[in-house]
Amino acid sequence: MDSGLASVDIAIVGPGPVGTAAALASAQAGFTVALVGPANPRHDGRTVAVMDRSWQLLDQLGVASALEPEAAALNVMRLVDDTGSLFRRPPTEFRASEIGLDQFGFNVETATLAKALLAAAEADSRILRVPQAVKALEVSDGARLIRLADGATISARLVVGADGRKSVVRSEAGIGARDWSYPQSALTTIMRHSRAHRNVSTEFHTRRGPCTTVPLPGRRSSIVWMMAPDDAERLMAQDDAALALAIETRTHSILGHMSLDGPRGLTPMGGLSVERFSADRVALIGEAAHVFPPIGAQGLNLGMRDVMALRECLDQSDPGAATGLGAYDRNRSSDVRTRTGAVDALNRSLLSDMLPVDFARGFGLLALEQIGPLRRFVMRQGLNPSSAADPARAARPSPKT
Ligand SMILES: Cc1cc2nc3c(=O)[nH]c(=O)nc-3n(C[C@H](O)[C@H](O)[C@H](O)COP(=O)(O)OP(=O)(O)OC[C@H]3O[C@@H](n4cnc5c(N)ncnc54)[C@H](O)[C@@H]3O)c2cc1C
Repeated sequence: MDSGLASVDIAIVGPGPVGTAAALASAQAGFTVALVGPANPRHDGRTVAVMDRSWQLLDQLGVASALEPEAAALNVMRLVDDTGSLFRRPPTEFRASEIGLDQFGFNVETATLAKALLAAAEADSRILRVPQAVKALEVSDGARLIRLADGATISARLVVGADGRKSVVRSEAGIGARDWSYPQSALTTIMRHSRAHRNVSTEFHTRRGPCTTVPLPGRRSSIVWMMAPDDAERLMAQDDAALALAIETRTHSILGHMSLDGPRGLTPMGGLSVERFSADRVALIGEAAHVFPPIGAQGLNLGMRDVMALRECLDQSDPGAATGLGAYDRNRSSDVRTRTGAVDALNRSLLSDMLPVDFARGFGLLALEQIGPLRRFVMRQGLNPSSAADPARAARPSPKT
């Protein structure tokens, strides 16, 4: 026999940072909300660079001020071609001030962000928190029925799949996905260092993938180092002093002497792309809808743009209505596909040792270095792509000419 737990406007499946932000935004928009699934914060030294508009969203959701003491501003992003290629360029720097901003965004530990969002959702009386995993999704009259691990059900007019890369919501809704892997793993950790980072993030592009330092408060930075899986396993097995020395050497000691100051983690690198972003009374957000390697701090920011687009596109009288979900699907298509394609192309160009590919990458960096309007265009697109600048635009009919 069915045990119906609740009936809500929107059920968000997956209490990761993107799903929890969606739950808060949906409650603010006046919908009744359930946030379903076990919280599973990772303590693996991973941080996220939360860019300008995503930070504004966190502010609207009431969590930015709690995060401020734990976050460091990103004022400059520097790319260093460390491939040894014949066509390598000198370092290229992008400054937030060039596009009239104080900073591009703020870097914070992913676990800290997830915890702050979840605390806000759990304190919000408009959000029903159900910590159980979802097993299945059924079609019901004008709604979807979510079946939980213990057999209980939740009825929702819209189900939002925010349940990560192996999304049950996506497969139960019959949305096809293509996934792939790269011959790389990302080693993540947090370092203390003797020199000040001056709020500069540096991405060293090596033949095995980028190694990036990202500022944290004080003389601390997070590290994301992509390399061959065997090398990553070997480094993970080293003691703290040996790993710190390897990181200091890889980053050419730009931050001085380094020591480990946080947990470490290893993530196999892969990508995922979906055939569509919505189905009958279902929408996908975050890593349920897109995955790519951590280059250029794009993944979570794309997820936050999913949340903003969903908020703008949904029909207030029926959040699961096909018109709103169609608008959401159109809005996300070009933004997500452009990011996935760009990150994939850059990553593969590093792994390739073909001269024409090296030449194209070197030429691209040269153009970015020399052509001011192009640099500013790329910086603005990195923060706020024009295809997603006005999520409401996709929801409005085109003006007749
Ligand atoms: C090394 C690394 C560095 C990164 N750096 C950046 C960066 O600087 N900037 C940036 O923008 N992005 C970055 N990213 C990407 C970013 O971390 C992810 O995009 C983001 O964390 C994904 O969040 P999410 O909420 O979509 O998914 P997840 O965090 O995976 O959350 C999914 C949630 O769903 C739950 N769940 C799973 N299955 C079920 C089920 N059956 N029922 C209910 N719940 C379920 C899980 O318990 C979890 O709580 C980085 C990624 C990596 C790997």
